[in-house]
Amino acid sequence: MQAIIDEIAQKMAASPDKGKVASYIPQLARVDPNQFAISVALPNGETYSAGCAQTSFSIQSISKVFTLTLALGKLGEHIWTRVGREPSGDPFNSIVQLEHEHGKPRNPFINAGAIAIADTIIQSSQSEEALAEIVQFMRFLADDDSIAIDYKVARSEVETGNRNASLAYFMASFGHFNNPVDAVLRTYFHHCSIAMTTQQLAKAGLFLANDGINPATGYAIVTPQRAKRINALMLTCGHYDGSGEFAFRVGLPGKSGVGGGILAIAPGKASIAVWSPGLDVIGNSKLGTEALELFANKTGWSVFGS
Ligand code: GLN
Repeated sequence: MQAIIDEIAQKMAASPDKGKVASYIPQLARVDPNQFAISVALPNGETYSAGCAQTSFSIQSISKVFTLTLALGKLGEHIWTRVGREPSGDPFNSIVQLEHEHGKPRNPFINAGAIAIADTIIQSSQSEEALAEIVQFMRFLADDDSIAIDYKVARSEVETGNRNASLAYFMASFGHFNNPVDAVLRTYFHHCSIAMTTQQLAKAGLFLANDGINPATGYAIVTPQRAKRINALMLTCGHYDGSGEFAFRVGLPGKSGVGGGILAIAPGKASIAVWSPGLDVIGNSKLGTEALELFANKTGWSVFGS
């Protein structure tokens, strides 16, 4: 495993085209694109890393996997009255389907869907409590109390978040929200701004590769059926309008973020986190995808066969 990921890290370092860092969130535009990290966490407790696996980055939309998990724990199947389970085929911040579909987002991973999920996590309008719960959940999963929100990134998102605000107010106009739009947006922007290393992220995702059980602690985070379903949503919706391409090239459930991270799950085998800040035109990590494609080819771990 170490030899495989060392070779991948070397190849990525030599790659001439590293993609473009996200510029619509000014704080993310400042990140050096010449960074790459990969970590692989196995159910037996071993973790392998290559590149800058100790550098924290903004997990952005990868946080949506964990807020979905929390919301499922709180509301169970009821959350499917708030969001759908179909790929959108549209960009992550698209508003077009919302009007036709009466304010119900296609899935929990596009921005509108994750904003609706944030609303379900908040109780009694307190975004602080919801955020504390989300951060605590990440710390518990990764077994690492140093995980925290990057408040500079959060402020940057709040200041430039007109599109997300539009999505939220539009959904609220259908009467779907339980909480004030401000509190929901605040929760959403801040959970996207959680900073983690690939090593922490790979560990946090391991329950999804292990039938819902965190092997480090033995705790059942979700049922095996729920783990399977979250993985299915990651495969079909985790890369927005690039989900088909990611399935074609990598063949693993995966969730990307505009910070350049991707969490990929090889069910029964491993949780893999990669990070490279440069993105492709859709907003998914360019080298992160290439690295996972190489990884899946070398290990034969694609869910579609080796
Ligand atoms: N916080 C980002 C946004 O709302 C998340 C987008 C992403 O990672 N694709 O635009």
